[in-house]
Parts: sequence; structure tokens; C-alpha cells
Amino acid sequence: MEDRPRSLATRAIHHGYDARLHQGALNPPLFLSSTFSFPTAEAGGAMFAGEVEGHFYSRISNPTLEYLERRIADLEGAEAGLCAASGMGAITATLWSFLEAGDEVILDKTLYGCTFAFLTHGLPRFGVRVRPVDLSDPSNLAEAIGPKTRIVYFETPANPNNRLVDIAAVAEIAHRHGARVVVDNTYATPVLTRPIEHGADIVVHSATKFLSGHGDVVAGLIVGTADDIARIRLVGIKDMTGAVMSPFSAMLILRGLKTLDLRVQRHSASALIVAHALEQHPAVKCVHYPGLASFPQSGLARRQMSGFGGMIPFEVVGGKAGGIAMMNRLGLIQRAVSLGDAESLIQHPASMTHSTYTPEERATHGIAEGLVRLSVGLEGVEDILDDLMRALAAHNA
Ligand SMILES: *Cc1c(COP(=O)(O)O)cnc(C)c1O
Repeated sequence: MEDRPRSLATRAIHHGYDARLHQGALNPPLFLSSTFSFPTAEAGGAMFAGEVEGHFYSRISNPTLEYLERRIADLEGAEAGLCAASGMGAITATLWSFLEAGDEVILDKTLYGCTFAFLTHGLPRFGVRVRPVDLSDPSNLAEAIGPKTRIVYFETPANPNNRLVDIAAVAEIAHRHGARVVVDNTYATPVLTRPIEHGADIVVHSATKFLSGHGDVVAGLIVGTADDIARIRLVGIKDMTGAVMSPFSAMLILRGLKTLDLRVQRHSASALIVAHALEQHPAVKCVHYPGLASFPQSGLARRQMSGFGGMIPFEVVGGKAGGIAMMNRLGLIQRAVSLGDAESLIQHPASMTHSTYTPEERATHGIAEGLVRLSVGLEGVEDILDDLMRALAAHNA
């Protein structure tokens, strides 16, 4: 009885915090302190030398951030966690920590637009070779990987088209060649997929999205082995990017995490209903949702995910113009980028989040010009459906 591991929903509320150490306060205190005093000058020197643990400056560590780091590491099944100023801060700090000129990164062809821009335009300026590969078929990795490959990087489901990557199959090939596997788990969250359990080495998040869940922070998180996280903390965050999370943001994310399981279950349940309704509508050309039987990787979705998430990319009849017109007829669903908020949000990747790809890149990377990306929120699903059906009915007329 004692030994049964606690459920993720419980750990998201309790893990890594002991109220008894803080006068019984059930919420972790907010430590708004940039610096921390040393009992003696020698003690300060020992902390800098890494001989003694403790907080001394909030670009390196802070107690409020530490609670969040412990909690996300636990939820992802990792040894250690690390906060960053944004999802992009988490991604850039991670990659800067392991790469040097002459190294190679293999990235999946479909990624969040700014990640794609950082990898394909940013890193090559510093002598790092990057190779976009379609990792939805792991045999493509076996062909592309080489002795200089240090990192294999992907999202599953990928932003914006929900394409999946078989984490275990990719990790097996990457590890045989000594490369680290870095997975952006923003879409699935640890509620639906825990990439470390499938063999990933490092998981990065835009905590701006489902993890905080309320659209009130921009923030990032990283988890991995204690050694890798220490390296990213001291190299990527402390010295190379300085992309530090504010303790205020950490507090908001800790609050958001308490309802993560509840929210992701609801996002997923509503999205499945919406995806079915969209698929049957004559004004809809295609729907890419992992929970649909028509989804080409539905078998992998069932093996690797415990639910299918809140994101629905779809195309309406009439391509880009049709999609834009439909978006403009929506009343409840907000036209906005970002995702995973309580509010349902819709955006047009080709002109917004994925405008960092050239039209040719979008064409060869599976990002259709007409694609619209819906983040199904926590409103009553009947209200979300009403709004979409009204906008689509006008489409037919
Ligand atoms: C939004 C997003 C990011 C970037 O995160 P920010 O917090 O906006 O910096 C990275 N990856 C994915 C999959 C995202 O959706």
C-alpha cells in the first residue's frame, strides 16, 4: 500500500514541497531575491567552487524556481529540471550547451516556427551543420545520422500539423551513434506522453502553453539527467543566454500545474468531439487529429500517448482564403497565436507561427498554406462547436 507510486494528478499538486518547512504555507513562497547572503566569505567561495550547495544568485538558482524544477522533473520522470525565461530560452540554452563548430544537429522537418528558424538560420552562423529530416519515418534517421551528429531534435505531436515521431525507435538509432535525443513535449505535456520513459535524454517545454495553462506567462522548462541539467544551468543559462525565469512566473506555473491533469483531460475530451464534428463537415477538407481513425499514425498515437491533446490543425475547402474567411467569422474562438489556454484560440500557421519557413520549405515540410490551427479551450464544448458550425455553415453558402 505504502509503495504504490502516486498518480501524476497528485504529484502535480504535492511533489517536492513540504509546507512544514514554511510555517505551514500550502503554496510555495515567492522568493523575490536576486542575491543571497553568505554566512562567511569562505562559505561564498565554497559555493562558487561547487563544494557546498545553496542559492547565491538568481541567474543560477532560486528557491521558488527550485520547487518548480523538482516538480516538472518528477512529472516527466527525469532526474532534474531547470527553468528558463521562455520556451525559446529553454531550447537555445539546451542546444548551446552541447554544440560547437563542426558538430551536426538532425532536426525533424516539422517544428515550431521559431525553433526551425533558430536551428536552420541561427546555428549555421556558428559553424554547426543542421539537417532537416522527416523523423516520422525513423529509417530516415538511420540514413542521415553520422559521427558528427550530437543532437537529434523533434516535437511529437509536432507544431502545427500533429505529425508524430516514434520516440523509442528514434532514440535507439540516435544512441547507437552517441547522439542525444531532445524532445519538445509542449503539445503532449507529461500527462499524455513522457518522452524520457521512451528513451529521450532531454525534454524541453514552452511552459507558456498547457503547463501554465492560463496565458499569463511566457516561460520555459527543461528536464534531463542531473549531469545534463547542471551543464545547461551553468553553460546555456548562466553564461550563454542568461534566459532566466522570473520567480513570479514560477509561482504562476506551480499554480497552473495543480490543474494540469484535469485541464489536459478536458482539452483532449473536447478536442476529440470537435475533431469528429469537423471531419464530417462538407466545408472541411481534412483534419489532422491523432484520435481520429483517419489519422495516418493513429496506431503510434495509441501506443505512445494516453490521450490526444487539445490541438486540431485542419483545412477548410477553399485553401488559405477559405481558412482566413472562416477565422474571421468566429465569435467565441479567439484569433490568436499561442495554445493550451482556457480560451479556444485559432491561428493561420503559414502567415503567423510558421511564416519563418519559406513557402518552398512549408510545401516540402508538410505545412499546407490553407492549414488553420485550433487550440481547443476549456469552454463548454457545445459552445465551441456552435461557433465553428456557424462559421462553416456560412462557408457553404
Ligand atoms: C510556443 C512554442 C515554443 C516557444 O515557446 P515560447 O514560450 O513562446 O518561447 C516552442 N515549441 C513549441 C512546440 C511551441 O508551441
